[in-house]
Amino acid sequence: NERVFSGIQPTGDLHLGNYLGAIVNWVRMQETHDCIFCIVDLHAITMSHDPQLLAKQTRELAAALIASGLDPDRCILFHQSAVPMHAQLAWILQCVARVGWLDRMTQFKEKKGKDKEGASVGLYTYPVLQAADILGYRATHVPVGEDQKQHLELARDIAIRFNQNFGGGDGEFFPVPEPMIQGPATRVMSLRDGTAKMSKSDPSDMSRIAMTDDADTIMRKFKKAKTDPEPLPESEEGLEGRPEAANLVNIYAALAGTDRAAVLREFGGQGFGSFKPALGELAAEKLAPNSERYRDLKADKKTLDRILRDGAAKADAIAAPILEDAKRAVGFLKG
Ligand code: ATP
Ligand code: MG
Repeated sequence: NERVFSGIQPTGDLHLGNYLGAIVNWVRMQETHDCIFCIVDLHAITMSHDPQLLAKQTRELAAALIASGLDPDRCILFHQSAVPMHAQLAWILQCVARVGWLDRMTQFKEKKGKDKEGASVGLYTYPVLQAADILGYRATHVPVGEDQKQHLELARDIAIRFNQNFGGGDGEFFPVPEPMIQGPATRVMSLRDGTAKMSKSDPSDMSRIAMTDDADTIMRKFKKAKTDPEPLPESEEGLEGRPEAANLVNIYAALAGTDRAAVLREFGGQGFGSFKPALGELAAEKLAPNSERYRDLKADKKTLDRILRDGAAKADAIAAPILEDAKRAVGFLKG
């Protein structure tokens, strides 16, 4: 039986990278799979945060996800801290994962910044909590963006090691989860720096297109996006060594449902003075229905809280027995 799990942090506004790299797949998969989508607030406190803002961002992210097409009647949508399994299984898996495995994680190296001694321990063990998120539902498929590939490999290693050590006769306690990295754009880059990925937690609001931005804001951000002074090339080879140009062409292709070659056939030879407004218009047109729905949903806190509570109850009903099995498997007495 196939089960999909994926998570997203309530660390800021849902952006075009999240959408094209992950959410488009989530929306598609709710029709064909048993899907669990989680707002990972436990992950969000691994970096310094403001408690009041976290609560607000959790609700707003729920609204933005529903506005983008997640249907709480077709998938389970909830916030991580409401289901006890995540933190409890993470502890068990921390004792399965090896320090050497975590030391290789590049996201920790990027997010800790210059001050390794000052980073939280939670930021270091973050990928183990992510493994618990997935394995605690015995999920088989995990649709994510390119940046999560390494964490998914770690989750597979943890599943394999747990199965070897505690899996019993057939060694199949946890299914080894398959990453699915296949959105229309699996790695959308920052509008301020073509070599850094677009992120919710980037301090510059101009670095990303939020799914909730209005048409004017979208246009302004694309017009201000960093680019080089050359016109667009006629073919894809001409994008090499031009990360900002490549990123804008990728975004255009993903939004238009076409490929880079087709975009360059249309715009090759033209300068950014004409390409950027065309891109801004296309994005505004594609995102407008989402941002309208978002504004309506966001105002209704009661409904959002109810949706998350119902989702948490459904998630817990799946996770609690798996956690119990895992506790028995490692030798804990029944409480
Ligand atoms: P943060 O900066 O707080 O880490 P984020 O923008 O990286 O936020 P996450 O909540 O960490 O977002 O990730 C949610 C999903 O979006 C994941 O599946 C991740 O792979 C995907 N994703 C994030 N950024 C991008 C991007 N720039 N391009 C494509 N997919 C992305
Ligand atoms: Mg991230």
